[in-house]
Formats: sequence, structure tokens, C-alpha cells
Amino acid sequence: MSHHQVLIVGSGFAGIGMAIRLRETGTEDVVLLERAATLGGTWQANRYPGCACDVESVLYSFSFAPNPGWTRTFATQPEVEAHLRSLADAHGITERIRFGEEVRSARWDAVHARWEVVTSTATGVCTWTADTLILATGALSDPIRPDIPGLESFGGPMFHTAEWDATVPLDGRRVGIIGTGASAIQVIPAIQPRVAQLVVAQRTPPWVMPRRDRAIPERTRQRYAVRPWTQRLARLAQYLRHEVLFLPFRHAALRRVAEAVIGLHLRSQVRDPALRARLRPRYGIGCKRLLLSDDFYPAMTRSNVTLETTAIRRIVPDGIETVEGTHHRLDVLLLATGFRPTDPPLAPAVVGAAGRSLAEVWAGSPRAHLGCSVAGFPNLFLLNGPNTGLGHSSVLLMFEAQFAQILGVLAVRRARGARSVAPTEAAQARYVRWLDAAHRTTVWQSGGCASWYLDRTGRNSTLWPYGVGRYRRLLGRVRPEEYAFDA
Ligand code: NAP
Repeated sequence: MSHHQVLIVGSGFAGIGMAIRLRETGTEDVVLLERAATLGGTWQANRYPGCACDVESVLYSFSFAPNPGWTRTFATQPEVEAHLRSLADAHGITERIRFGEEVRSARWDAVHARWEVVTSTATGVCTWTADTLILATGALSDPIRPDIPGLESFGGPMFHTAEWDATVPLDGRRVGIIGTGASAIQVIPAIQPRVAQLVVAQRTPPWVMPRRDRAIPERTRQRYAVRPWTQRLARLAQYLRHEVLFLPFRHAALRRVAEAVIGLHLRSQVRDPALRARLRPRYGIGCKRLLLSDDFYPAMTRSNVTLETTAIRRIVPDGIETVEGTHHRLDVLLLATGFRPTDPPLAPAVVGAAGRSLAEVWAGSPRAHLGCSVAGFPNLFLLNGPNTGLGHSSVLLMFEAQFAQILGVLAVRRARGARSVAPTEAAQARYVRWLDAAHRTTVWQSGGCASWYLDRTGRNSTLWPYGVGRYRRLLGRVRPEEYAFDA
């Protein structure tokens, strides 16, 4: 058993960024538990062809660790992963990560005022204790397989985009892909030129806007390195642009304008009116994640691509069958069917002061004070927790706001000589009521789509309902009266 001041679960952007900020502010004894063999979280797990960030690189980095070396306006997965690795190395975080440690349970020990965490490893079970536990396990870390009859009967290779099997050859083969979300629209153009046939099974057509990805010229990169303020300026411009992009999500009139403008992208890229009609979204823009791509629509027009919009009745050993009886023969089946962020897999295993788990307390609808701590769970902090996701900007900005709040709360705990801290029930309830009211007028509630933003109770427990600036302002100050400190 080893004891640490802070245990962080997860070594993606959130976990690594938090560890850096903790060390910078004097907390040296930080250990990160990572179930994978390498760091990076979602950026090491998702390795499908075409995988790239859909937020501009200049905004997809921490303000305290800018990267003048980004080679493209939208960094590819290998580049993001490499950036994160060098960030962890440069700040002495890599050696603090314990790889291959999958958290099985975390229990608050009120007697000793600490968390007891049990992990499983390749060789057995390990027990850890910590004064403070921070969950940085990511919202999009556990892939879901579609609930389609016969799925397991498929005879060829079949895998989820987040579990890409690069050993399976796709060249010259008949490939099917289920889903047309953010992952699918990156995979499809990347593999279309290589495969013999590509069957795209689409249930809901997404809104897709131009991406305009391009190489960042060497001279710009040099300028960013020599005069960092020029990169900060570019970052600010992107930040403000994204804040404007958010407005249609709250205002129906602006939504109609956005739909008209962004609809032109489909019109300009798909000439065939019949195909265009099948690709046209039928819900309010932003209700599901707004996607960016310059090559998805063109790929869909190629002769080796079939768009299947009829529901799948079942998967059979040699392909898929629709409810109308069409049988698509396939050699390989790709599942681009997303993740389930509203049922975090670790929630049943994290047990708080009253002996109840996060899953029991949440009952299918996660709630947290300011998205980063939960009443009844002392010394526990969440990164990328309930209602901290974004549909319009860089989630790293949200992480930084959470780092500030968590560091601030820990500082007050230290200053008061308290052993533990948790938000009060009243403060959390007030905050959640305010959030739910703010959500009522958003497109996510009223846009006429079914999305993973909504949990099984119909509540939006994933997204922050305003622009990023408001969250940063809210979390930039600690209000000690919202927390209970125990000596
Ligand atoms: P997703 O957005 O949830 O898309 C899943 C797709 O699978 C949807 O088209 C969905 O259809 C379809 N689907 C699910 N179950 C199905 C079923 N039983 N039958 C038929 N179709 C089914 O998942 P994702 O594309 O992996 O993206 C998830 C999130 O990851 C994104 O929203 C984004 O936040 C993040 N992401 C980011 C990037 C990036 O930065 N570049 C890239 C990839 C992902 P319906 O729409 O009808 O449900």
C-alpha cells in the first residue's frame, strides 16, 4: 500500500494538466493511475485513419503550455499525442504515471480522512491511499457497441473506431461502417480510396460545416516561437470566433441563419439532389455535435460508396441486412457508434461518505457542484465532470477553469487546517437548479434530435449551457461558503 497527497486517475489532457498545475503550486506528491500502457487518454486510444482534432490546434493546447510547432491548423491524432507526451516529459509528469493500473474501486475512509483505491494490474491487485482523489477519466473513454441483433455473429473482422485494429487489411475489401458521427466522418474519407466497396449505414444525417484545414507555414511557426504573443493573439481570435459559434445553440433565430449558411456546404459539395436529400440533417443545428469536414461529402459521392439510410434489421455472418431486406455483403465491419458519457463506468465503484456510490447518488443523471465536486464525496474532484462538455469550443479551456477551482479549494482546505472538503448539498442543489433552467432554452433540449448529451432521464448532464467565458469567470473564484470543511 502506498500513500500520496494526490492520486489522479487518467493520463489524458485533464490528468496531465492537473498534475502540472498541482506541482507548479507546491503539491509534489502526485501520482497518476493509468489503465493503458501509454499516456494520452482518448488521444492514445483513438488511432483510426483520419483521426484529428476538430478544434484548431492553437486553441487545443493549454494556455500555460503553448505549442508553436503545430504543423496544421487542425492537428492530427499522432501530433496531438506527441504534444501531450512531450508536455508530460517536460514537466516531469511521465515518471509519476503508473501504467497498467485499472481502478476497480475507490472508497472514502472517514476515520483517516483519505481515499482507499484498489487497482488491478497484470500481476494482481494493488491498494493505494490518498488525501485527495481526482478523477480525470474522460467522458469519451468507453466505446459502445450498437445494440443490433446478430452483431456478434459477423464472420469477418469487426471493431470500434476507438479500438482500431491496424492489422486488418482494408485495401480492396468490402467494408461497412455503422454511424455518421464525428469519428465516422473522419474515417470514411480516409479509407474510401483504399477499399473496394464502402457501405455507410447512417441513422441520422449530421450537420457538417467546412473545416478548412491547412498546413501552418514554417515562417508562422518560427514567428510563434520567437514572438509568442502572436500565437496568443491567434488563439484569442479563435477563442472569440468559437464563442460566437455558440450563440445559435441558445437563440433559434440565429440557428436558422446558421442552418442556411452551413447548409450551403452540403449543396456545394453534393450535386446529386437525391443523395443530398438523404444527407440533409432534419434537426436543429447543434442539437447533436456540429461536425467539421472538407472531405466527408465528396467521399460520399464516390462510386464505391453506398449510403444506406434504411434501418439495419440484423447483422449476419457475411454482412448487414436492412429492414427492407437489402443484404450488403461485407468483409469488414467498422463500428463508429460512439461512447456513453452519461453512465461513467467508474461511477459504481466510487463510494462516498454515506457508503453510497456515485452511480447510486446520480441515479442515471450525473450532478456535480460547478462540474468538479460532489456533495457527500469529500476530497474528491472530477475533471470533465457533469455539464462541463462543450459543443462549440476547446474543452481544454474548461479543464483550466476546473484546475483553478480545485487548486483554490485545496488552498482554502490547507489554510483552514481542515482534513476534508466537499460542496454543501445546498450549494450543489442551487447550482444544478440554475443549470437545468439554463438548459431549457438550448437547442440540445428543443432541437428535435436524440443525442448522447441527454442522459436516460432526459436531462442534459453533459454540456455547459453557456459560452466558455462564463464558466471561466464562475470557476475563477472560490466561494468557501459553498463548501463544508471538516477538521
Ligand atoms: P457519436 O457522435 O455518438 O456517433 C455515433 C454514430 O453511430 C451516430 O451516427 C449514431 O447514429 C450511430 N449509431 C449509434 N448506435 C447505432 C445503432 N444501433 N444503429 C445505427 N447507428 C448507430 O460518436 P463519435 O463519432 O465517436 O463521436 C463521439 C464524440 O467524440 C464526438 O461528439 C466528439 O465530441 C468526440 N470526437 C471528437 C473528434 C475530434 O476531435 N476530431 C473525433 C471523433 C470524436 P445517431 O446519430 O442516429 O444516434
